[in-house]
Amino acid sequence: MTKERPSFPLKLDALDNKKSLANRPSSSVVSLSQDKNSNPLKSAPQIVDSASGVGLDSATVREHMVKKLAHQGVADNAVLSAMLNVERHRFVDTALVNQAYEDTSLPIGLGQTISKPNVVARMIELLRQGRCLDARGKLGRVLEIGTGCGYQAAVLSQLASEVYSIERLKGLYERAKENLRPLRVPNLHLLFGDGMLGYAKGAPYSAIIAAAGGENIPEHWLEQLALGGRIVAPVETQSRTQVLLVVDKTENGFEKTYLEAVHFVPLKSGIN
Ligand code: SAH
Repeated sequence: MTKERPSFPLKLDALDNKKSLANRPSSSVVSLSQDKNSNPLKSAPQIVDSASGVGLDSATVREHMVKKLAHQGVADNAVLSAMLNVERHRFVDTALVNQAYEDTSLPIGLGQTISKPNVVARMIELLRQGRCLDARGKLGRVLEIGTGCGYQAAVLSQLASEVYSIERLKGLYERAKENLRPLRVPNLHLLFGDGMLGYAKGAPYSAIIAAAGGENIPEHWLEQLALGGRIVAPVETQSRTQVLLVVDKTENGFEKTYLEAVHFVPLKSGIN
């Protein structure tokens, strides 16, 4: 496993050796690093413009997505730049590749969805507006609950020193591993487990982000958050709708800010 730091921007074009993980030591934590023999020419499916039917360079489509995000109010250049770098189409099914850069959530299997780009950008921007940036302007250690297909984890890995991402569904954990393994992301650690328990070994976290919403913020997350750290997560309101909740851990206790309505899959306990 390479100890090399990720370059910025990450070389996410250099894909795609699907060599099996079978020879790796069995562990629930997998650090992702690129295989030296990976073949960058074995490219991902082509993006086809739905109006013209013309094949497009995915960078062009991504640029369009990022311009739209900026237009919608995402102002943090670091977030926009990370979203420009990460190839969202590599995280969705081949059949959905043409929708990969639309501002929509998409099915990723097992009844789960990849969040809309706008929501991913918004939540990470909120994290970065807390007190949790280090001297280099990076989020420190980040815990993500709900790896799903691994897209948001890849975006986070560009903006944080370490990312621990937990998924409770084995099928999606495996899928994220497949999606992410060929990329050069040594600061991203995938975990299979119940994210409601957090991941004590990586704590304290300067930021915790959840891609699934429960009735409230689990106690373990509050405990594992560093002083000055921030949680951004969907939570249910009394009227059973979901809103984004920001929790800051301060010297005077936890400060909560309830924001706009969102629609995330439910946060569930246990593994499957
Ligand atoms: N960030 C993801 C979004 C995945 S959807 C992406 O970019 O694709 C949310 C995910 O949260 C689902 O995969 C769901 O299985 C997972 N999830 C729900 N409850 C969880 C829990 N307690 N621990 C870990 N993952 C959980």
